[in-house]
Amino acid sequence: MRTGINTLFIPGPTNVPEVVRRAMNVPMEDQRGPEFGAFVLGILADLKKVYQTETGRVILYPGSGTGAWEAAITNTLNPGDKVLMARHGHFSTLWAEMATKLGLDVELVDLAWGAATPVNEFARRLAADRQGKIKAVFVTHNETATGVTSDVAAVRKVLDDSFHDALLFVDGVSSIGSVEFKMDAWGVDLAVTGSQKGLMCPAGFGVLAVSQKALAASAQATSKRAFFDLKDYDMLADTGYFPYTPPAQLLHGMRAALDRILAEGLENVFARHARLAEGIRRGVAAWGLETCAEHQSIASNTVTAIRVPEGVDARDVIRIGFERYNTSFGSGLARLGGKVFRIGHLGDLNEAMCLTALSVAEMALAEAGAAVEFGSGVAAAQAWYAQGRAVRTNRI
Ligand code: PLP
Repeated sequence: MRTGINTLFIPGPTNVPEVVRRAMNVPMEDQRGPEFGAFVLGILADLKKVYQTETGRVILYPGSGTGAWEAAITNTLNPGDKVLMARHGHFSTLWAEMATKLGLDVELVDLAWGAATPVNEFARRLAADRQGKIKAVFVTHNETATGVTSDVAAVRKVLDDSFHDALLFVDGVSSIGSVEFKMDAWGVDLAVTGSQKGLMCPAGFGVLAVSQKALAASAQATSKRAFFDLKDYDMLADTGYFPYTPPAQLLHGMRAALDRILAEGLENVFARHARLAEGIRRGVAAWGLETCAEHQSIASNTVTAIRVPEGVDARDVIRIGFERYNTSFGSGLARLGGKVFRIGHLGDLNEAMCLTALSVAEMALAEAGAAVEFGSGVAAAQAWYAQGRAVRTNRI
């Protein structure tokens, strides 16, 4: 029997705050009833605040982030269109595979897993594309597999500097709602997330925000689509009623989660994630271990991927964390299997929880054979968090 709580330090699904869980405990209701549309319109309006867009439109698709990836592609592009993508982790790789499956002509830049989106290489290829063959540029804002954040604003600048008209697609699944994301200011055309990460809800919605330019493209795009057809979702934007049956309880959870995010304040949410992440990174450095991120400047504020020492299997670290300490860490994905374990630090989280993650990781690492001094990572993070006392913002 497991006693106490299982603490989730996977980078999604994240901890769902109790107030959000309770908000979902409502009887079934009529999704065509007179009050439902206004209720949903309020949620869509607040999601726009999280995306920092006034001119864009947010669509909630029953599904997950992967569904919203597909919706973004099939609604705005044509089979055979050339698109520019980079592979630098498991999720950017999967998105590129999907683009290929959906008939796009994918121009790939392959990088080490731990690198960020290659802005200079994208600049070179866009500048060379005088005939405008590249129809879209894809950026994985936060590569959850490696704990790397990319510079979306820089990619926008590269597009502008080369007077390139390609659509800008962004995977913000593990960034939106946790780290700064400015859809309008960065000129993002399609931005994807899911309900189960920064939005602190259970999985169940793929969230897609589209710019006016993307909406215009969707009127011409010939890719086959049915369930995800944006046209069918005009009614959602106009009236708040879904074309199909929505998960109503999840919407109540989303309402409570958005209330919480907006009460804390977006800037405070971002500052909290930055502060907590820095503590985790200091802890990892104190163990003498490396992160997967190639450089501190691109290290993610929502997830840290930690390379285990030679001779240690990261799968053991994760297994020991779960079996002995009832604590879940994220695994190394695909080629990082066994080499990396991940601490997710996004969503409903505070210093005490991060210290628990570091403390359990120390025990699991030591039991898996790593030479880690007990308390070293915890002490480094404590020193950092204690300094931050004067700027505490996580009281809502
Ligand atoms: N993109 C990123 C960066 C992710 O982290 C994930 C899931 O973890 C996905 C896409 C896929 O999202 P989902 O599992 O909601 O389909």
